[in-house]
Amino acid sequence: MFDVNKIRKDFKILERKIWDNKPLVYLDNAATTQKPNVVINSLVSYYENYNANIHRGVHKLAEEATTLYEDVRQKIKDFIDANSTAEIIFTRNTTESINLLAYCLDDSIIKDGDEILLTEMEHHSNIVPWYLLRDRRNITIKFTPITDNHELDYNTLEKLITKKTKIVSITHKSNVLGTVNDIQRIAKITKANNSILIVDAAQSAPHMKISFQDLGCDFLAFSSHKMCGPTGVGILVGKKELLEKMPPFLGGGEMIRKVTFDGFTTNDLPWKYEAGTPNIADVIAFGTAIDYIEKIGLENIYQHELKLTEYAFKKLKQFDFLHIYGPKEITKRAGIITFSNPVVHPHDIATIIDQDGVAIRAGHHCAQPLMKKLSVSATARASFYFYNTPEEVDIFINALNKAFDYFAVGACKELKQGVKSKK
Ligand code: PMP
Repeated sequence: MFDVNKIRKDFKILERKIWDNKPLVYLDNAATTQKPNVVINSLVSYYENYNANIHRGVHKLAEEATTLYEDVRQKIKDFIDANSTAEIIFTRNTTESINLLAYCLDDSIIKDGDEILLTEMEHHSNIVPWYLLRDRRNITIKFTPITDNHELDYNTLEKLITKKTKIVSITHKSNVLGTVNDIQRIAKITKANNSILIVDAAQSAPHMKISFQDLGCDFLAFSSHKMCGPTGVGILVGKKELLEKMPPFLGGGEMIRKVTFDGFTTNDLPWKYEAGTPNIADVIAFGTAIDYIEKIGLENIYQHELKLTEYAFKKLKQFDFLHIYGPKEITKRAGIITFSNPVVHPHDIATIIDQDGVAIRAGHHCAQPLMKKLSVSATARASFYFYNTPEEVDIFINALNKAFDYFAVGACKELKQGVKSKK
């Protein structure tokens, strides 16, 4: 049974007090999540008991470390429902996974004159790698617009795909709007057009059950640190035939089969894309995080976040001068609430509510083009995970109330009256 109070005991950091003995209310989970004690213990245990370099050693420690590391690949294959462990590549983060693709798809797939289709709601990590590719090749990058309800405009997306569109790269869940995109619908379009579909699952994989095979995309990327695992570990899932076709990313040890004075041959998948000593301890601890999340259950996680979002929305109604971004229907955007108002800057809101121990994010959220589209320079964002509670939402709302009182009570009141008189 899902028991949030019991779950919270698994996280030492959630006992922390901030400033003058305020309980920590951590609502910055879209940036990174907290780590349960089992994950921290797993890191310590690796260094205390198994530390050795993997794959090449014949001694007992090397064998044990290799088994622990490769077992995590199997766990991830099952977690994300990939076809085989050959399709699971360890990287440093989602950003590196997408950069790997932008680098390796160049030449093997992309030619001058081709087009890449993104969306207006992408994180910089799914924009800048493609700009870097555009600096090397004569290609065009297009952006699928969002609708007034902050969903993808699927009709326009369909029109923007042409015979020249080699790659469609798209976020599964927006880190600003919370919008969950219909990847299966897009996959049907890209398949019919022979385009490669890449999915940035950094914000979806930690919060909802995903099947790589069912989504129908060609590549999928996500990060350990957004799902209770350590920083420094990312995943790239890719279709085997494409991974085989692409050249390697980085060169060095591990990614080779043979090196001579003339050249080299590449290792089998997935090691072809994993040059050098990997992040062994963190990958092993990520395996522990996956076990932990699976025990809680992704459906429980999703439902809990949905309830918290619903509750927070109800409470936020009292601030009718706030502009809340993302789809109006909560089921389309669970877990993320991004807002602003014309009077108090989001950084000021975040700074003031931090005095009450409430951690939210303010800024452009690495989505400057989207900010431009929304006609703001910054927004404030509260984002939930399964260890958050309705009581924490109450603290957040009370802190917001104080912030508005502190900064702009008069202006906010006027705004409020203005909103009412317009109704
Ligand atoms: N994509 C999205 C949608 C994100 O929210 C983030 C992290 N904020 C990233 C990509 C990048 O993740 P990382 O920093 O772990 O590479």
